Formats: sequence, structure tokens, C-alpha cells
Amino acid sequence: MTYAMHPFTLHHPRSVEEALSMAADHPGALYLAGGTDLMVNLRKRLHEPHHVVSLAGIDELRGVALEGGQLTIGALTTIGELANHPLVLEHLPVLAGAAALVAGPTLRGMGTLGGNLCLDTRCRYYNQSHFWRQANDFCLKKDGDVCHVAPGGSFCWATYSGDTAPALLAYDAELDLAGPEGENSGERTVALNDFYGPDGRWSIGEEPGGRRPGELLLRVRMPLPESDPESGWEGCYEKLRVRDSIDFPQLGLATRLLRRDGKLEAIRMALTAVNPRPMVVAGLEEFSGRVLDLALVDDLKRKANKTGKPMRTAVADTAYRRTMIGALVEKAIERLVPELAEPLAERRRLD
Ligand SMILES: Cc1cc2nc3c(=O)[nH]c(=O)nc-3n(C[C@H](O)[C@H](O)[C@H](O)COP(=O)(O)OP(=O)(O)OC[C@H]3O[C@@H](n4cnc5c(N)ncnc54)[C@H](O)[C@@H]3O)c2cc1C
Ligand code: SF4
Repeated sequence: MTYAMHPFTLHHPRSVEEALSMAADHPGALYLAGGTDLMVNLRKRLHEPHHVVSLAGIDELRGVALEGGQLTIGALTTIGELANHPLVLEHLPVLAGAAALVAGPTLRGMGTLGGNLCLDTRCRYYNQSHFWRQANDFCLKKDGDVCHVAPGGSFCWATYSGDTAPALLAYDAELDLAGPEGENSGERTVALNDFYGPDGRWSIGEEPGGRRPGELLLRVRMPLPESDPESGWEGCYEKLRVRDSIDFPQLGLATRLLRRDGKLEAIRMALTAVNPRPMVVAGLEEFSGRVLDLALVDDLKRKANKTGKPMRTAVADTAYRRTMIGALVEKAIERLVPELAEPLAERRRLD
């Protein structure tokens, strides 16, 4: 019975209130959105809940709207809708670009923004069948007591590998969350950057992080005019994966920048798939006012490399992924600052 799921009761609430009350009645229950990640993980017995609360019938969680100077996106909005929605394309092109690169078309049609942001962390020793994990004495994150990536330690390095979070970090997104009755009850708003914990076990609620047990993600909010196309900000999302048609990122980089008269006014970058949480590249403020030249590109690469810490959690070689952080920074700059494309290409030819 290696592949049998742990038996659970499936609940079908029709409102947020009902969903929260079901979560309160059944501590440890998991929410099911599109199911594109959760169902796979249940089959592998990475989670063994007794209760699962389907969000499919809660229409108030769907949709994209522009209201009160903010763009809001319901948690149940599908990734496919995000990639094609006129408001997202106009105001959040980096998010639209990242969404268009999530998995393949069928998964984008089922998978939701909420599920993408709450994605369980991934590791080559964890995303395996129960049989495989059992044969390897399991691991710290589930059922075992050793980390196969860093055996001496007590930290889990499993990576957050969603594509939308880095894009949303580049827009300073906030999340509206609602907790079930009890100590986590009520609604609160947190910056997306505060939603994740440092250890790879945050995603299953075993480590401190912003996420609290039983909390439901309601919507994502972005301030305007920060995301207004008139503001002059430009951006892109670059992704490294094994098969371009479907795979999770081995590395992802969201970039937004504002430039004027050959100088950088401001830049934001965020990485995915190289740390247990999506990470804003730190310290980029110091580059404001610098001339857009190759020396600046090298400094950006250094900062990104300091932030991204690829470990042996993915199929691609660690040193290769580390090198590719810099390569994706170059690629992003080539797209956003076309006048640097030729000098960068020339330098690569000479290297
Ligand atoms: C072959 C394959 C390739 C994939 N490639 C990619 C990829 O390239 N990029 C990528 O980002 N993802 C990828 N995925 C993962 C997944 O398809 C997407 O991340 C998708 O957006 C997940 O959304 P979902 O609605 O299906 O989440 P679910 O599977 O329903 O849920 C995922 C997790 O989020 C929790 N959750 C869901 N909604 C909420 C909510 N509103 N509040 C609180 N918790 C919630 C669930 O409890 C669960 O823990 C891939 C999956 C597969 C199977
Ligand atoms: S990083 Fe270590 S503890 Fe975490 S899932 Fe991988 S092997 Fe397990």
C-alpha cells in the first residue's frame, strides 16, 4: 500500500467563514485549492491529514480587481488567469511573466495563486515516494531525524520553488490572511516578505515563520501607483529549469528597475528556488544613482550571489546553479537595458 493516501474527510465550504470554522473544528486540516501540489504530496504521504478543506466552492476568493488605489488578486485566482489578465499584464508585467512560466498549460489552468504562495518546500530527498524515503531512513522534514543535504545539522534546506512569490516581492505585495477561531483568529495583513520562515519546515508549520496554523490566505494586494506603467519601472522574470515545457524552477529571478539618462534610479530583485524561502536581494539601494555599466552589472551579480544559497536539494548541480544566478542577472539586465547587451555579449566572447 505504498502509494495509498492516508484516509481523510473532504469538506466543501461555500464561504470563507465556513472554511475557517471547519479548520477550527479540525486542527491540522489542510486547505485544498487547485490540488496540483497537494494531491501529489498526499500520494507520497508527505502530509497525512485527517481532514482536507476544499476551497473550490468559495467564489469570494477569486478574481482580480483595481480598487482603492490597490490591485487585489483573490487567492483562488488561477495561474493561467494571472498570466493573461489585462490588469495584471498592464500593472504587474513581471507577475504575468512569471505566471506564464509556471509548469505547463493544464497545471496553470488548475493551480492557484494561493497554492503557489503557500507551496510546500521541495528537496530531492523529500519529494519522493514513501517507499523511496523509507528505504533512505526518511529525513528531518518528515518522519526522520537526519538531513541528507547537510547531515551534521538540524536545519532543513528544502527550497521554496514557486515562481510568483519573487515577482510579488519585487512589487512589495501584502497578503490578507484569516485565522480560524482560537489564538490565530481574525484577519491580518502581512508583507509577503514576512510570510515565510527561514527553515524549510515553515511550509508544514513546524518552524516559526509568518504563517500560522490553519490560516487561510484570502488575497494579495499591491499598492499603486508603484505598479503603474506610467511610473517608468520596467521588469522581467528569468527562469532556469530542466524542461522548459513544465518544470519547477531550479532558479528564478524577478527584476524591476527604474532608470533615467543612463543611470540607475532604483532596482529590486528577488530570487526563488535557491533558499528555503523566496528572498529579496539585499543591499541594492546602494546602487541608486550609479551609471549603468558593466561594473554595475558585476556588483549586482555579487549581491545576488550573496543572497542565493543553492544546496544539494535539486537535480541540477549546486555549483552550476550558483553560477547561473549571475547568468540570470546578466540576462535580466540585457533585456531591461538593451544598450548593455552588446558589451555583455562581447565580454562573454572574450572570457
Ligand atoms: C509537474 C509539475 C510542475 C510544476 N511546475 C511548477 C512551476 O514551474 N512553478 C511553480 O511555481 N509551481 C509549479 N508546480 C506546483 C503547482 O502546480 C503550482 O505551484 C500551483 O500554483 C499550486 O497551486 P494549487 O492551487 O494547485 O495548490 P494546492 O496544491 O491546492 O496547494 C498547495 C499548498 O498551498 C496550501 N494552500 C492553497 N491555497 C491556500 C490558501 N488560500 N490559504 C492557505 N493555504 C493554501 C495547501 O494547503 C497546500 O499546502 C508544478 C507542479 C507539478 C505537478
Ligand atoms: S533539506 Fe534535509 S531535512 Fe530538508 S527535506 Fe531535504 S533532506 Fe529533508
